[in-house]
Amino acid sequence: MNQYPLSRRSDIGNKIRVSFEFFPPKNDEMEARLWDTVTRLEPLKPQFVSVTYGAGGTTRERTARTVKRILQESTLTPAAHMTCVDATREEVDQVIAEFAAMGVKRFVALRGDPKEGVGAAYQPHPGGYANGAELVGALKAQGDFDISVSAYPEKHPESPDFATDFDMLKRKVDKGATRAVTQFFFDNDLYERYVERARKAGIYIPIVPGVLPIHSFAQVANFSARCGAHVPYWLAERFEGLDRDPQTHALVAAAVAVEQVLDLVERGVSDFHFYTMNRADLVVAVCHMIGIRPQPAVQGSAAA
Ligand code: FAD
Repeated sequence: MNQYPLSRRSDIGNKIRVSFEFFPPKNDEMEARLWDTVTRLEPLKPQFVSVTYGAGGTTRERTARTVKRILQESTLTPAAHMTCVDATREEVDQVIAEFAAMGVKRFVALRGDPKEGVGAAYQPHPGGYANGAELVGALKAQGDFDISVSAYPEKHPESPDFATDFDMLKRKVDKGATRAVTQFFFDNDLYERYVERARKAGIYIPIVPGVLPIHSFAQVANFSARCGAHVPYWLAERFEGLDRDPQTHALVAAAVAVEQVLDLVERGVSDFHFYTMNRADLVVAVCHMIGIRPQPAVQGSAAA
């Protein structure tokens, strides 16, 4: 008999699967940092790594380039984010075809935010796909892809109520979504309640928590307000006075992320998606604490 709680068992790493999210770099310096991060995270053998698609489709070329490099120069399995913003159905179909030709088999399908940014009113393109569900349908029409979609434990900011959100999530599942990945959150009760409600609404795909390790509390607090994620007072208190003390900030951030993830493990969660912000340190620390350790590279496994 094992008297330790789940999160302290030595074999816990065998039961946990992780995925990592990156954004496409804007310049050579950011590209070097991303690649350093990719190289550090690769031995942790994530299930997949995803590459975001900038607001308004503004990073189409850079997303494609990053996905291609991951395919060609690493052993990782990339998932390409796609959005419906500012593009006709034909243009979106063309992008899907280009990714498929490259060898991409996983996608993260999103409606996306307007070019003006999070919070601006969304206008679907008159000749385009209107929402995430229609985009999932378009992807499935071109291949039997693994498709992740979004979920919002605190409700999508534009949505009038949770019922509308669950209706959209159900439509995405009916079109063929494989899993949902959540918006980041800091209160695990909200996530647990959301999953319970989704199950009651007849949604049975995995709902993977999106975990955001906090590199800058000031930035996260600002961004959270715009995307509807609540920052609890106790979290703000933990980072209080650390704006000019990056070393302590990083230690506290690791402790906070570890605490959140271990608590989710105790609640039975086994899949985690990390918003890496193209940085490895905090993610490596959290993965270490849940038993995810570097695996030796298998010779010749990169799709060179
Ligand atoms: P949908 O699933 O189509 O809709 C989400 C909810 O919004 C619905 O449940 C519905 O209730 C409500 N809603 C949608 N449209 C309307 C409307 N017209 N009126 C009222 N309510 C409405 N954004 C990017 O630009 N690029 C990315 O790479 C990216 N990656 C993401 C990854 C994850 C895991 C998550 C959670 C979000 C990501 N986003 C990304 C952000 C996302 O594009 C925004 O949250 C966007 O506002 C909604 O997209 P969606 O796919 O969730 O929309």
